[in-house]
Amino acid sequence: MEHKYNPKSLIADEFISNDEIEESLRYADENKNNLPLLQTILQKARLEKGLTHREAAVLLACDLPEINEQIFSLAQQIKINYYGNRMVLFAPLYLSNYCVNGCVYCPYHAKNKHIFRKKMTQDEIRDEVIALQDMGHKRLAIELGEDPVNNPIEYVLESLKTIYSIKHKNGAIRRVNVNIAATTVENYRKLKDAGIGTYILFQETYNRQSYETLHPTGPKHDYAWHTEAMDRAMEGGIDDVGIGVLFGLSTYRYEFTGLLMHAEHLEAVHGVGPHTISVPRLRPADDIDTNDFKDCINDDIFAKIVACLRIAVPYTGMIISTRESKKTRERVLKLGISQLSGGSKTSVGGYSHPEREEPNSAQFDVIDNRTLDEVINWLMTMDYIPSFCTACYRAGRTGDRFMELCKAKQIHNCCHPNALLTLQEYLCDYASPETRELGEKLIAKELATLSPQVAATTSAWLEKIRNNTGRDFRF
Ligand code: SF4
Ligand code: SF4
Repeated sequence: MEHKYNPKSLIADEFISNDEIEESLRYADENKNNLPLLQTILQKARLEKGLTHREAAVLLACDLPEINEQIFSLAQQIKINYYGNRMVLFAPLYLSNYCVNGCVYCPYHAKNKHIFRKKMTQDEIRDEVIALQDMGHKRLAIELGEDPVNNPIEYVLESLKTIYSIKHKNGAIRRVNVNIAATTVENYRKLKDAGIGTYILFQETYNRQSYETLHPTGPKHDYAWHTEAMDRAMEGGIDDVGIGVLFGLSTYRYEFTGLLMHAEHLEAVHGVGPHTISVPRLRPADDIDTNDFKDCINDDIFAKIVACLRIAVPYTGMIISTRESKKTRERVLKLGISQLSGGSKTSVGGYSHPEREEPNSAQFDVIDNRTLDEVINWLMTMDYIPSFCTACYRAGRTGDRFMELCKAKQIHNCCHPNALLTLQEYLCDYASPETRELGEKLIAKELATLSPQVAATTSAWLEKIRNNTGRDFRF
C-alpha cells in the first residue's frame, strides 16, 4: 500500500514514510557534491535553528573534505553555544532482563536459554540504588525487558517509588528516566504520575522491512505500535521523550533520515521535538556476533552522524553510553554530545554485585570500564564541567516550557550554575582527593564566567555544600 508522507499524521507509515526517506536519500546522492547547495544549507545551519531531514541528509552524504571540515566545526560551535562545556552524567539501572521478545541483536531475547535471568526485588533495588548513590549518581535511566508477567507496569511503578525514596547519606536519585517497551496511553499516564523524567524508547530501526525481520516474535514485532509509542506517551502527558536508533541494524543514512523525520513529526503534532536523541551502535554480547550485521558503522561515520545531528536539531540533547570507548567518546563529546553515562553496569544487580557483570548476563559489553570518579576526572582534564543537574523537570521546566528556554539559549543561565553546584556536591561527598582538587579549581574558574548576581548566589550555596549545611540547591 502506498503511504503519502505527512509529518502531522499519527500513522507510522505516513510520518516515517519509506518513500520520503528513499526520495531524500536519492536527493542527497544527487547533491552531495553540489557546492552551491551545500553552502546554502550550511548558511542556514549557521543560524543554529536546525535543518530539515532532507538538508541534513545531503550534509551526511557529502564527502568533500572542505565541506566536512565546516560541518565538524559548525557542530562544535553549536555544541558550545547551546550546551557550553557541561556534560550531564547518568547511569543505567537494569531492573529485570526477562523478555518475551525475539530481537535478534539483543542477548535478552526470549530464546536465549543460557543467559542468567534476573528480576530484582525491591530490597535488591534498594541495594543497587545505595551503590549508585555512593558512587555519586543523581540521575538514572531504568531499563527492563518486555514481559507482561514478570515486568508489569505495577512493578515499574513500585520500583520508581523505591528508587525515589532512598536517601543514603547525602545521596538521592533526583531524576529517573524510564526505558520500557511501547505501552498504552493509560500506562504512560501512570508513569507520568510516578514522576519520571524522560520516557526513552529506541526505534532500533526505522526501516519497516528490517524492523520486522529483526523482531521476528513478541509484541515488539508490531512496527506501528512501536513507532507510534511516543505519540501515545505524549497523549498520556509525558512531556519529554527520548528517541534513538541502534546504528548497524540498517543503513545508517536511512536511520539518520528516519530519526530526523520522527523529530519533525513530534514537533509538528505535539509542538515539541524529542528531549534527547541517543546514538548507540551495535555491540557484541553473549549470543550476538556483530559480523552478522553488514551495516555496522565505523568511527568516522559515527562522528559524522553526531555532527550532522547536532547541526540538524541543536536544541535536542544527545546521549552517548559506555558502549563506546574512551577514545571515541573523546572525539564525539565535542561534536555534540551533552549527556553520558559513567561507571555503568549493564547487568541486573551489577552495581551492588559486580561479579554479576559477567559476559553472559550483561545486555552488551561495556567498553569504557572506568569508574565514575575516573570519568569525572577525565572530563575535567578536558575542561568539561561534569554535571549531575536534574533541576528542570523538578522545577516544571519540561516539554514546550523547556524547549522555549532552550531555543532562546536561555537555559544556559540555569545549566551553568547548576552544573557547578552539583559538581560541588560530588566533590564533597564522593570524589577522590585528586579529583576534588581538580574540581575545586574548575569551579573557581567557572564562577568567574557567571553574572555577578548569579555568581553571588552560587557562591553562597557552594559554601553551604562545603560546610555540609545544605544540598540540592538549584536555579
Ligand atoms: S532489545 Fe529489549 S525488547 Fe528486545 S530482547 Fe532485548 S530487552 Fe527484550
Ligand atoms: S538546568 Fe535543566 S537543562 Fe540544564 S542541565 Fe539542569 S536539568 Fe538539564
